[in-house]
Amino acid sequence: MMDYQLTVQSMLERAEKYFPKKMVVSRTLSNVERISYRQIAQRVRRLASVLEKLGVQAGDRVGTLAWNHHRHLEAYFAIPSMGAVLHTINIRLSAEHLIYIINHAEDRVLLIDEDLLPMIEKIHDQLPTVKAYIVMGDREEAPASVLSPLYSYEGLLKEGDPAYSFTQKLDEKDPAGLCYTSATTGKPKGVVYTHRSIFLHSMVLGLKDSMAISEEDTVMYVVPMFHVNAWGMPFASTWLGSSQVLPGPKFTPKILAELIQNEQVTITAGVPTIWLGLLQELEKESYDLSSLRSIVCGGSAAPPEMIRTFEQKYKVPFCHAYGMTETSPLVTISRLKSDQQNLSDEEKLAIRAKQGMVVPGLEIRVVGEKGDVKWDGQEMGELLVRGPWIADQYDRDERSKQSFKDGWLYTGDIVTIDQEGFIKIVDRTKDLIKSGGEWISSVDLENAFMAHPEVLEAAVVAVPHPKWQERPLAFVVSKKQTSDLKEELRRFISQQFPKWWIPDEIIFLKEIPKTSVGKFLKRALREKYSDYYGQAKGNRVDAS
Ligand code: AMP
Repeated sequence: MMDYQLTVQSMLERAEKYFPKKMVVSRTLSNVERISYRQIAQRVRRLASVLEKLGVQAGDRVGTLAWNHHRHLEAYFAIPSMGAVLHTINIRLSAEHLIYIINHAEDRVLLIDEDLLPMIEKIHDQLPTVKAYIVMGDREEAPASVLSPLYSYEGLLKEGDPAYSFTQKLDEKDPAGLCYTSATTGKPKGVVYTHRSIFLHSMVLGLKDSMAISEEDTVMYVVPMFHVNAWGMPFASTWLGSSQVLPGPKFTPKILAELIQNEQVTITAGVPTIWLGLLQELEKESYDLSSLRSIVCGGSAAPPEMIRTFEQKYKVPFCHAYGMTETSPLVTISRLKSDQQNLSDEEKLAIRAKQGMVVPGLEIRVVGEKGDVKWDGQEMGELLVRGPWIADQYDRDERSKQSFKDGWLYTGDIVTIDQEGFIKIVDRTKDLIKSGGEWISSVDLENAFMAHPEVLEAAVVAVPHPKWQERPLAFVVSKKQTSDLKEELRRFISQQFPKWWIPDEIIFLKEIPKTSVGKFLKRALREKYSDYYGQAKGNRVDAS
């Protein structure tokens, strides 16, 4: 067979050739723009030509600090197509982490949204590798700024070449993308994606047993484009010729509901907190969501009750998936096998709330203390993954050897695997609770709390205990706080778990702290309450 190179530029060229009239709807700070793939492709070529004029060469890293919009999508294709590396930077990082990753990546040019400029203005004197800044906004002039040289994206594009030919020298193993893990401890770690890994991962997003993205779809990725390449959806949707809807900056649940309704979105994707927010909006106002054929939910465990509400009350099919920055990200997706279709609704929900079965192309193992665990849905072990879109190291990072061993990625996720091969995430290694020598799953407890109609969010963390080693402590955000809700919740949970699983205390909070990508930041709770049992008796922390 031909030694054909699997490259990102060929993915754009397909959209340009076969779907020139298909539209990308892009919400920016000032308006909603509609741009065809023909226009996008020309703008991608213009951008690549001006980046080249600015001195960007093959292998150089180009950073983006941006929301989900069409200019960001153009950067997704222009940068890899000219042989450079698209480094998507998390806009919610601390100044310290921003400085660390821009310097570690050695970014040469930064593309920055206008409203995010202050983040870089504050630290620009600590970014020695950056030779030029480009502000992404609607205007053709760059605003006044301490950044220098600072160009306007639209101004530059005007001077660019719409017929620019991409390099023909790309090798599929060349780096195309770079994303740092959203570290909650230590410095972020960089993961480099290759043209080949992006191409193969995109192909899998199109499989019917996976996300089934196709030309018929209108895809709205709510997951940020700086979170594992918006789960690979910008690449796959463009390549496969889907229409796209990009929700832009500072969107609200109302904006999302309106976009789904008005643009007839068929697939959308994001972390559970986004969908919990949308549910609250749906309770306030009614929208027509009948175009939706799938909400893809990943990044943290999707509470089964949320899946039930979307499917039964709002008739929107839900799809639970699992992955991580190191895995491009898709590893498993939860779809019933055909012989599971005749199970009861409850049984089906229990299966679909799991993280699911590994997608074709990857291999997994679940390894406990005594080797591979039984496929019984009970025994727990760490999930190991390997395959063509799984990283084999962190970018120039000593910590690689802790996670990559014997050709496998050690995910740090503790899971069970059932007879059908469906995995269920029990916890991150560091979140698992060990009480009196037995394991308690914080995820199971959280899901159970979130199944109560009064509960909006719940997090359960381990706190050190003098007798039991650790005990679970529950944190709950409730719709309204009645004096007997705590007891009611305790009763509710007690029906489902053994006594020793029940958290000794339920603490009501206004909000669960979140990470930069919207997951529960359980470390913050663990740290704050680490001395909960260390306090003098009768003088416990009482935050309720
Ligand atoms: P990130 O690299 O930021 O995407 O984080 C990856 C981690 O998120 C994984 O290692 C899991 O711990 C967690 N995660 C991702 N998807 C799910 C899911 N569907 N259910 C539970 N945890 C998940």
